[in-house]
Amino acid sequence: MSDRADKKFYLETFGCQMNVHDSEKVIGTLISEGYRQVPTVEEADLVLYNTCSIRDKAEQKVFHRLADYKKFQKQGKVFGVLGCVAQQEGEKIFERAPHVSMVCGSASYRNLPQMLVQIEAGNRHVTGLDDRQTDECFETEFTSRTNPHRGYITIIEGCDKFCAYCVVPFTRGKERSRTSDSVLAEARQMADLGYTEIQLLGQNVNSYKDPAGKMSFAELLAAVGQVAGIRRVRFTTSHPRDFGKDIVEVIDAVQTLCDHVHLPVQSGSTRVLDAMQRLYTRDQYLERIAWMKSAKREISLTTDIIVGFPGETEAEFEETLSLLDAVEYDGVFSFKYSPRPNTPALNLEDAIPDGEKARRLTVLMERQRDIQKRRNQRHIGQCLEAMVEGKNETRAQWNGRTSQNKVLNFVVPDGITPTIGGYASVEITGSFPNSLLGQMMV
Ligand code: SAM
Ligand code: SF4
Repeated sequence: MSDRADKKFYLETFGCQMNVHDSEKVIGTLISEGYRQVPTVEEADLVLYNTCSIRDKAEQKVFHRLADYKKFQKQGKVFGVLGCVAQQEGEKIFERAPHVSMVCGSASYRNLPQMLVQIEAGNRHVTGLDDRQTDECFETEFTSRTNPHRGYITIIEGCDKFCAYCVVPFTRGKERSRTSDSVLAEARQMADLGYTEIQLLGQNVNSYKDPAGKMSFAELLAAVGQVAGIRRVRFTTSHPRDFGKDIVEVIDAVQTLCDHVHLPVQSGSTRVLDAMQRLYTRDQYLERIAWMKSAKREISLTTDIIVGFPGETEAEFEETLSLLDAVEYDGVFSFKYSPRPNTPALNLEDAIPDGEKARRLTVLMERQRDIQKRRNQRHIGQCLEAMVEGKNETRAQWNGRTSQNKVLNFVVPDGITPTIGGYASVEITGSFPNSLLGQMMV
């Protein structure tokens, strides 16, 4: 590769919000090292994939992408695999995709500058795989955020929960939190730059433990919510075991905290939850839901569910359906169980055939669609605040999100142009299972 001044990189991200934000930090780091980001593989000298291995499909996508672009190696392009597939497959990636020169897990991103030096020196097998036991987070002043109004802050990395089906503890390493001082400094910096919405991130964001011992998670939420200029604070993903009443109390007390909680349940059956090693029962989960339902503000609830975990009986699946009815979520991300390397669930018997998993998924999605249709109808006639995200020219509608994180499409009176990133008051005139419709009020 030639001089740094004209080094160009392309980066594609797969997977969750944590990966999206990691990529913003990786991009910022590369730019600070003198590289320039380009929008296509064709223009790049260095091609990076930030990968996800949560389910088999996500992992296969990355290998397909690598195969598609192998032809570019002849032109001298250098390929790197970052993130969860990199950590999980390690040096095996060099055998499976010999045109790859760098393999780096997320716990090693701090070492990227040194790794770039090795790549530039012509090293064809550069690795960052040995940092999963680190206590340090990837903190950088060079985050390249893509949205100028709404931004992420990772407050806790890794995971120590070891659910029986999940690769994350193996790919992202042990749980480690940033100090509350450092999180608040970043939040203030973002507010100074004009950000009004902050989303705090962590695989289990509410397992946050301030290494300086100053603040609990709920106190940190309140403090971020009180940063001057910040109008909305979100946080994801919460783990039911670590979900305390203090989180509900702080949502009630601090208006800038959004009235939405994503609390993955995974299954409605205590027997399956135990086999999943989720560390709570159905009743304990429902107790947390009851706290939220008795809050002063109406808190919107969403969740993640896995169907077809090994040994899940029809009756246990029905328990998940009955939990949907009991909670009445505003949104559900549902997945067919996907067997993953290294995880204890691989050794469980009674795998559910793929066709049956697909059937359960369809049944669950249909049941949930009816719930959402019903729940969204009750917003009709209300006036909700939307953060304006953009305009759909064909439909002549603007779009945004409510505090509850619902998609809101709306029309505006003649002569008015809402500001992207600004806030609009919208009267709700219609509803669908996955969105609301309204008219901007002036
Ligand atoms: N830490 C969060 C929690 O405990 O709920 C979730 C993080 S995980 C990246 C996101 C979701 O992927 C999980 O909630 C789960 O529903 C799903 N998931 C994880 N492993 C899976 C697997 N092996 N098969 C299917 N879905 C899986
Ligand atoms: Fe995976 Fe469980 Fe950790 Fe969530 S809590 S990241 S599902 S191991």
